[in-house]
Amino acid sequence: MIKTSCQLLDGRAAATAIEKKILSDIEEFKKNSGRPPTLSVVLVGEHAPSQIYVSMKQKAAERVGLGFQLHRLQSNIKEIALTSLIGEINRDPKIDGLIVQLPLPPHLDPRTALNTIHPDKDIDGFHPLNIGRLITSRALLEPCTPKGIMALLAHYGIECIHKHAVVVGRSAVVGRPLSVMLLRASATVTICHRHTVDLGSYTKLADILVVAVGKPHLITGNMVKPGGVVVDVGISRLDNGTIVGDVDFETVSRVASHLSPVPGGVGPMTIAMLLSNTVRAAQHLAHVKILPEWSP
Ligand code: NAD
Repeated sequence: MIKTSCQLLDGRAAATAIEKKILSDIEEFKKNSGRPPTLSVVLVGEHAPSQIYVSMKQKAAERVGLGFQLHRLQSNIKEIALTSLIGEINRDPKIDGLIVQLPLPPHLDPRTALNTIHPDKDIDGFHPLNIGRLITSRALLEPCTPKGIMALLAHYGIECIHKHAVVVGRSAVVGRPLSVMLLRASATVTICHRHTVDLGSYTKLADILVVAVGKPHLITGNMVKPGGVVVDVGISRLDNGTIVGDVDFETVSRVASHLSPVPGGVGPMTIAMLLSNTVRAAQHLAHVKILPEWSP
């Protein structure tokens, strides 16, 4: 194994720098509109990790001075009640961004809920219209985790052009939109997933390797190109309570030139992009004034 000095891709530091710009945008918006950009979250049921994610979003929103509204719904709520609440929030001129926290209880179809969100308030960027815009050009609102990964690379001056990027994981939330963003940044992109045979033979070729799977220690040092950039998106909790990513930090940090830690890498960037998307939605809506009717 070749020993390199590995630089940490510190998501907390990068997010703090981005939040400075967000703070000044919020001040400007408040001056013009008399209220802060405001985010509404719909949380259904008692799913424990979702409670934590929502409280992290609330803390971040309050830290930068965004308005925050939380709708807690019983886990047995009917789909029609959920979609009519989303419709109400769509029409509320004081709300700029709307998140339906996933996963939903099994009797509710997440696609129906996400498609009901007005695309101009869709700060998670999961609406099919925004995904379509992402693929065809650039969307106002793009998914926060992949957008945060691109911002983390940019913060550390890592260019994608002429590079071979390998993305492990093809979910609609991370892997697929990220592969489009990397392609847009002129990387040559390979996407691996659970049915990829001999994963290491692909990851070893990566100048930029992004791993979004949810399996601790999936990627070890012998699967990484010496001097490659490695971004670890995974979040798993071990039996002893420790939070880890998908990358074996110990062996990979001896090979990679850059590596994002877990926690403190992609997570803070995701939150920063959520705040940024809320401000972008608010600025856009202030200009549009009246939203066109939306029905899925
Ligand atoms: P997902 O379960 O929807 O997708 C996992 C992907 O991994 C799938 O595409 C699957 O094909 C692939 N996969 C499974 N086993 C594999 C294997 N052995 N080899 C190669 N590919 C394999 O998960 P997701 O929502 O994309 O999230 C992935 C991870 O990222 C999770 O740990 C999640 O908690 C984390 N995550 C972190 C953030 C953040 O902000 N840091 C945001 C979203 C997700």
